[in-house]
Parts: sequence; structure tokens; C-alpha cells
Amino acid sequence: MPWTTIVKSSRDREIVPNLHDYGSIHASFTWEQARQDLEGLRDNQGLNIAHEAIDRHANGAHASHVAIRWLGKNGTIEDYSYGQLQDLTNRFANLLQQLGVARGDRVFVLAGRIPELYIAALGTFKNRSVFCPLFSAFGPEPIRARLNIGQANVLVTTASLYQRKVAGIRAAIPNLQHILLIGEDRQRTAIAGTQDLWTRMQQASPSFAIGPTDPEDIALLHFTSGTTGTPKGAIHVHQAVVAHHMTGKYALDFHKDDVFWCTADPGWVTGTSYGIIAPLTNGITSIVDEGDFDAERWYRILQDERVTVWYTAPTAIRMMMKGGAGLVRKFNLRHLRFLASVGEPLNPEAVVWGQEAFGQPFHDNWWQTETGGIMIANYASMDIQPGSMGRPLPGIEAAIVHKTEAGTIELLENPGEQGELALRPGWPSMFRGYWNEPERYQKCFAGGWYLTGDLAKKDEQGYFWFVGRADDVIKSSGHLIGPFEVESVLIEHKAVAEAGVIGKPDPVAMEVVKAFVSLKDGYEPSEELRRELLGFARARLGAAVAPKEIAFLPTLPKTRSGKIMRRLLKARELGLPEGDTSTLEG
Ligand code: ATP
Ligand code: MG
Repeated sequence: MPWTTIVKSSRDREIVPNLHDYGSIHASFTWEQARQDLEGLRDNQGLNIAHEAIDRHANGAHASHVAIRWLGKNGTIEDYSYGQLQDLTNRFANLLQQLGVARGDRVFVLAGRIPELYIAALGTFKNRSVFCPLFSAFGPEPIRARLNIGQANVLVTTASLYQRKVAGIRAAIPNLQHILLIGEDRQRTAIAGTQDLWTRMQQASPSFAIGPTDPEDIALLHFTSGTTGTPKGAIHVHQAVVAHHMTGKYALDFHKDDVFWCTADPGWVTGTSYGIIAPLTNGITSIVDEGDFDAERWYRILQDERVTVWYTAPTAIRMMMKGGAGLVRKFNLRHLRFLASVGEPLNPEAVVWGQEAFGQPFHDNWWQTETGGIMIANYASMDIQPGSMGRPLPGIEAAIVHKTEAGTIELLENPGEQGELALRPGWPSMFRGYWNEPERYQKCFAGGWYLTGDLAKKDEQGYFWFVGRADDVIKSSGHLIGPFEVESVLIEHKAVAEAGVIGKPDPVAMEVVKAFVSLKDGYEPSEELRRELLGFARARLGAAVAPKEIAFLPTLPKTRSGKIMRRLLKARELGLPEGDTSTLEG
């Protein structure tokens, strides 16, 4: 790879990074010590996410600090201080009590990024019930399936989503006892079989004392993105907050006056761990934008809200790249000091584009719904190797392993060896199971390791490099080819906006590499361009790894969280059934 290391200069250190010395902090870190950064419930009554996120700040000098600044689609701005959030989440917790919703019961929320979603999440934690977010663009069938898999007791949604998506399937969700509706513009609703959320909230008391919370009490049920198959419901417990808090501090470098914007929707785990929990436990201001992606509007938000730390995703970055760096430079983004990305491999081209457009690189980090929080990251203080996911967080032991036929685990310790990325279990935000799927959960562990299902390699300096999903890796003429490497080269070509690569069965080579690309504005598919791209890739990758075929698509199929669904490209190519498409962007 021709990419040069991005060396962090002293300019990056005007604010000393929390993880100022990776080596020494990593070496001396313990989770017990990290737990001491949190307060815990009084009289040793345990650890509750909402206490750390809200009450601890609201009960002190921080009560009037803005916790959430909400930017509505129609231009409305609403600020919620820690004190106000305490009042509102207490009311929601009291409302759950009045309804008889118990510790461990599931409270689902189906809503866009509106304040009620955040209030319900935190109020649910206070009641020690289980919060389960659903992405608001789901259709009735994925909603029904998830409500039933999670045996929902309560559903909070808007009147409009209820009428469009839930009313028709209501009879098919037998476990559901209570439906709380949010009216248009918070107008009262009166739909049979439901209750009006704000009416009940107003009647509820604003005082609530969180009951004893075992750190192992279930707090969250989070469905995975469904990139590789049927989504799984990952279970997380209250003590996950120790990892949320610590990773916010070290991987996202939160400092007390930060204004942080996580662009992810809470329907996906990033939007919960970092869109709700981590910024609040760290006592900073979190921006919540109700609107969807729009490059220019996003730059305006960064400018007007004086965002200091920004956490977004590769798909959005690639879309911004389409519009060019010139547009970014029209905005005054001098407050912005740290850019991070997650969700998919971040092509080196995109890391470097950050420097061109924002004057600083994007910091890639890696984690999964199952890990609950960031596991491997590029830090504010650490040089970046573009294309690498970075190094493990303090408290996280990561390795490259091979699972033998017999089911034993071999450690691959030579730099550059490719294998499955594995993590040593034991960090607080590790999932505790897949809801009602114990066997699927058991299969994730072997030889004392959690196997992530991702392939990666590690270099001499301990940086990890993503190769591909285990399911997506291509076996061609005795080589193992990671789609990410091929895709990253293709998008270096000036005409290519996005690329998705699959293995296509071949009688001689076993599989050959086939690439699907979408083009940047101003470029049209043509035979000439196809040949040019084939030659471009061959020159960089060599004949063994370069694609043999390239097809043009207007856009690539993606999950609603923006991940390229290679399994769908493959199924379509081979004329096979498409499998679970509930999370497909549509
Ligand atoms: P499913 O498990 O249902 O197939 P999913 O794995 O996409 O869906 P998530 O938990 O949302 O569901 O995504 C985690 C996965 O996303 C990781 O296992 C990895 O494959 C990919 N990923 C996340 N961040 C990165 C990154 N920085 N680099 C490369 N891949 C990443
Ligand atoms: Mg997964």
C-alpha cells in the first residue's frame, strides 16, 4: 500500500489526549479502576446506567449543563439539561411502575431520533427494565418479528408509525401489554388500545429513586445489523456502562466541554452506546439530529453547533467525498478536533480525505453489537496507518487465531498472518447471550476466546488490519482474498464512489473476484471504463487478487445502518434466495 503514516504533530495536542501514552495506560489499566470513575448507586446498591448518565450529574453542579441538544427536522431546536432529563426520565420510570412493568420486562421503542426515544431509554434503565430500540424505517414484518423474539411487554412509538406499521399486526404480537403513543407535535392521541404518552408523563411524579441494580441485570437487547444473515438479539447488562464511559474517554477523547455528535441512529448499537450512554456518563453535550444524511446540512450542524468530537460512518464519509472537499472548506469548522468512524472498514482513501477536507484524519475504530463498545481504535495521541483499525483499548486483549477442524484454537502470532479476530472475554460490555438463542451464542466461543466472525491481521507495531467478514472472504487459486483490500483499491480510482466485492464460483480457480461499483457524479458506465478499472486494479493488486469481472450498479445494496450487503450481491449474482432482507435499505 502506498499510504504513508499520518504522524500526530504537536498541533493535535493542544488538548492533551486522555490516552496520552498508549503503552503505559494500556499496561497498567484494570477494569476495577475504571469502575472507580463512576459513582455507583448509594449504599452499595449496585450500578445503573441511568444513574451514571443522568442522576449523578443532575444531583450536582452539572444540573443545568446541556445534556442533549435536539435538532428537529423542521428546524426546531430543543435543549435538555441534565436536570430536565432527570425529571423526564423519572416520570417515565414512574409511568412504567404504574403500568406494572417489572425489572427485566422489555420496553421497545420504535421512533425516529426524537427526544422521547432518549427519555424512554434512560427511564427504562431506571426501572431496571430492558430497553430495545427498533429502527423506525422497519416495515411491519421486521417489527413484528423483533417484538415477538424479544417478547415485548411495552411499545413506545409515534401515533403515525403505529397506524402505518403496528396497528395491522397488533393481533400477531400476543405478549405486548402496553402501547404508549407520541402524538404529532405532542398533540394528545386517542387511539383504541393505546395510551397517550405525554398525558401519562404529566400525571407521573418527577421523583424516582432507582432501586438496587445488580451490575449483571439486563439493560439492553440490541439486534445486530443483519449484514451476514438473520439479525441476532444481543443482550447487554448494566455494568456495560463501565466500558461505555471508558471508551468515550479514551477512544473518542471526551473532555468536559465537548460538544459531541454521533450520527448513528439508536436502532443500531452505535446510536445507543455512543448516541445515548457514553456522552452522558462523561457529562458532555450530545447533539441529536432528527434529519437524514445531507452533506451540506451536516457541515452546517458541525459549524453552528460548534461540534468538537464527531463520530460517523464510512458510508457517510464516502458520500461526502463524492461532493468534494471544496464544499467542506466553505464552513468554519475550527472547533472540530476529533473525527472518528465505525461500522465498516474505512478505506485509507477516506482517512486521508479527512485531512484534505477537515484538516485532520478520520480515526477508524472497530467493534460489534456483541462487544457493546469500541474494542480497537485509532487514538488522538497515536500515529495513524491509513486502512488500519488501530490498537486494542486498555482492558482488551485481541488476537488473531485459527480454529482447527477439531475446534481447538491456534494463536497466529507472526505479524501479517491472516486469521479470525478473537477477543479474550471479560470486559464489562461484552454481550451475555443472544436472546433465546443459546446455541448460537455458545458457537461464538472456543479455547477461552470470543470469535468475532471477522478476519484480520496484526502488524509488527500491534496495529490490526481488517480483511473481511469470515463469510465474505474469497478463495481463489489457493489465495485467500479479503474484499476490503480490493474495494479500497477500486475506490482510489477517480470515477468510483463505492465498491463491493464477492467471490464468484469458478470451476478452475474455485472462486474468482467479481466487483460491483457505483460511480461518482459525472461518470457513466461504459465498456471503456470497465476495461480501465480492470487494468487499474490489476496494476495495483496483481493478477491473482484483482477482479476478473466488474459490473456497474447505480448504488450498492446496504443495510439501513449503511453496511454493504455482499451476501446480497452474491445471492443476486448466483440467482439464489436473498435470505433475511429485513434490514435492507429500501
Ligand atoms: P450481522 O451480525 O447481523 O451480520 P453486523 O455484523 O453488520 O450484522 P453489527 O454488529 O452492527 O452487525 O456490525 C459489526 C460488524 O461491522 C463487525 O463485525 C465488522 O464486520 C463490521 N465493522 C464494524 N466496524 C468496523 C471497522 N472499523 N472496520 C471493519 N469492519 C467493521
Ligand atoms: Mg455481526
